[in-house]
Amino acid sequence: RPGQATGESTEALDAVIVGAGFGGLYMLHRLRGLGMTARIIEAAGGVGGTWWWNRYPGARCDVESMQYSFSFDERLQQEWRWSERFAAQPEILRYAEHVADRFDLRRDIRFNTRVTAARFDEAAGRWLVLTDRGDRLSARYCVMATGCLSSARVPDIPGIESFRGRTYHTGRWPHEEVDFTGQRVAVIGTGSSAIQAVPVIAEQAKQLFVFQRTPNFSIPSRNRPMDEAYERWWKSDYAAHRRRARMMRTGILYHIDERSALDVPPEERRRVYEERWAAGGTAFMGAFADLLRNQQANDTAAEFVRGKIAGIVRDPATAALLQPRDHPIGTKRICVDTHYYETFNRANVRLVDVRSAPIEAITPTGLRLRGGAEFAADSIVFATGFDAMTGAVLAVDIRGRSGASLREKWAAGPRAHLGLMVAGFPNLFLITGPGSPSVLSNMMVSIEQHVDWLSDCLVHMRARGATCIEPTQEAEDAWVAHVAEVGGRTLYPKANSWYMGANIPGKPRVFMPYVGGVGTYREECDAIAAQGYPGFRMS
Ligand code: FAD
Repeated sequence: RPGQATGESTEALDAVIVGAGFGGLYMLHRLRGLGMTARIIEAAGGVGGTWWWNRYPGARCDVESMQYSFSFDERLQQEWRWSERFAAQPEILRYAEHVADRFDLRRDIRFNTRVTAARFDEAAGRWLVLTDRGDRLSARYCVMATGCLSSARVPDIPGIESFRGRTYHTGRWPHEEVDFTGQRVAVIGTGSSAIQAVPVIAEQAKQLFVFQRTPNFSIPSRNRPMDEAYERWWKSDYAAHRRRARMMRTGILYHIDERSALDVPPEERRRVYEERWAAGGTAFMGAFADLLRNQQANDTAAEFVRGKIAGIVRDPATAALLQPRDHPIGTKRICVDTHYYETFNRANVRLVDVRSAPIEAITPTGLRLRGGAEFAADSIVFATGFDAMTGAVLAVDIRGRSGASLREKWAAGPRAHLGLMVAGFPNLFLITGPGSPSVLSNMMVSIEQHVDWLSDCLVHMRARGATCIEPTQEAEDAWVAHVAEVGGRTLYPKANSWYMGANIPGKPRVFMPYVGGVGTYREECDAIAAQGYPGFRMS
């Protein structure tokens, strides 16, 4: 019974799925299709994952709606209508709810329940999954669909508990409406969430302080109501367009210019950048083929965006602070905004540099920087991101063979074969885990690819009479080395990004996602399946 603890009795299932975001929902649907019994355990009060939690003002997808959606059901993709080029959080949440209803998924989801531990019982070949409500579930397969950006991070600033106003985290936004009218608001952080929230909060607040440690590159979204001709084009042959998208580097169908930025004359380069800037969105990074591989090429794009910032922001000192100079463009998640830089021209908005003078304390009435500067605030918004990719997985005490702990195994950085499975942890599956394209991609494409691959794998196992699968240590080591090697050929490791774990004090610095491209990765996974799963032991 969803939402109800089962006390001391143990519920027996074929699979437990942790998380009811898009990953968990689709996994449940596919497992049911295989005739398996499966249950999702979800900490939130509803489906949608990211889009259930991140209700902050301005929350929006930066992959186009026509592409940020499921492709597994033709009628679903034909019938659903998106209202905007880039959908806002409420609409994506409605979509997740629609999917849950349409495929009757809710009856197998237990909400408001957090998985705390999962232990592999070697003798029985089953996972025992425990929750914070006292549930005990026994399942042959355990699927961690826990999300790469679901473990919200609040920095450890002294005095935080003394603050007399209200505090918020963008990733844990309240369900009731938050009204900042007449307030002094402090936003801490200038990543993707802040860049979306700041322009909206600025319209309400009496005074807005934006506390910035590291500026990020942001491209205008040029969001607009859905163009009907564009929608018709997608829907005229959705399956074929999706097939092409799946083979793209990021799982997003857009034109990537195959030229090097350095092979074209400066005026042509500028024309290309202007065109991409005017079109809006992350496709900016497709302007030339080598932007993420060649520093000099990257510099041309970065310089172009810095020039745009200088052109938009009237106060030269503020413009200079907003211009990123410490990382190549695109090596931290590129942001997409609606009037972010313009917002700093408002009289009620002020950018505060906390690189030169860090936040020293939160006081009962606001924030204090090193050196003594004080900022009075009625509300503080933490737009401080997530313990990405590994945070939610490791929040669960996962024990594999011989009681070995995943936290210990990953102490020096995550290790997973294909980002999908871990040696020593049989029948444990990670959806969009570290070592897969994951956060570098259109996550809908990556989620479907993982869930489909796993489902096919389970069909294969069943045909062979196998019930247990585990990668070999050698295969895992080789994949982890490959992921590092491919990452090392790019500019990504140059940035102190959350891809590198750099936003979490003490987290090992490892470039976690696989940067070889969504299409290449799919081909590698498919080849392994076609060859009968070399690198995996089945029994
Ligand atoms: P999630 O949606 O994160 O769902 C995981 C669920 O697991 C959560 O509901 C969580 O509560 C639950 N959970 C975790 N641990 C436990 C536990 N121990 N017990 C019980 N439940 C648990 N991706 C894109 O491709 N394009 C975008 O433009 C984009 N924009 C984003 C904007 C924001 C603000 C954020 C935060 C993410 C964005 N993403 C984007 C990434 C987004 O997370 C994915 O696109 C997708 O929604 C992930 O789905 P998921 O099911 O894998 O994980």
